[in-house]
Amino acid sequence: MKNESSSDILIYIGNQYNPTIDHFLEEARNLGCSRHVYRYPKKITIGKSRAFLIHDTKKVIGCRGCGLSTSDVGLEIKICPKCGSTNIFTVMYTEPVIFAYYVIQAAEFIVDDNTKLPKDYEDKGVKPIHIDDVVKKEHLRGCGRRKVGNLYLVSYPNDPIVSLNPTVPYVGEHFRGIKYIEGEQIFNESKTLKQTEAIWK
Ligand SMILES: [Zn+2]
Repeated sequence: MKNESSSDILIYIGNQYNPTIDHFLEEARNLGCSRHVYRYPKKITIGKSRAFLIHDTKKVIGCRGCGLSTSDVGLEIKICPKCGSTNIFTVMYTEPVIFAYYVIQAAEFIVDDNTKLPKDYEDKGVKPIHIDDVVKKEHLRGCGRRKVGNLYLVSYPNDPIVSLNPTVPYVGEHFRGIKYIEGEQIFNESKTLKQTEAIWK
C-alpha cells in the first residue's frame, strides 16, 4: 500500500569515492549507509522512506567462447551457461543504473563543542552525533570521514541494503543532493526487466 506521507528519494553515489557498485555495497554492508544531504528532505519519513542509489559504473561479464555478455551487479560467472567455456572476461563501463536501496533509519547531524544541532533539525528528530565521541572512531568510508555541520541520512550495519536485480537504468542528468521518486515504480521497472533476458543478452 502506498503511504502518502512518506516519499522515497534518489541519491547519486559518486564513482570518485566508490569506484564500483560492489565497492559501495561491501562498504554499506560493513558500515551501514551514510549519505550526505545539503538539507533535510521535507517529504521523507524516518524508518519508512527509502533511499534508492544510482551509480554510473557497471561491470560487464562476457564469454570469449560464444560472445554472450551480462551487465549485472554482483554476478560472478565462472562457466558460460550457453557454451560451457571458462574463458570469461570482465569490463567496466559507464551507464547510470539504480542498483540498491536502504530504508532511512535516522538523520544524523555532526556536532562539536561549537556547532550545535539547529533547532529546526531538533524538531524533526535529527540526532546530534558528536565528532569526538562517534565520528573519529568510525571506520573510514570511501568518501572520507563525516564532517561537522553536515547532515547524513543513515542506515546501520545490521539494516539490510537491498540490491536490485536486475538494476534499473537511470535516465537523466547527474545531480547533487536528492530527488524525490516513486519507489514502487522502480520496483515495477526492475520486475519487468525479466531477469534471464537482462542477464544474458
Ligand atoms: Zn559462451
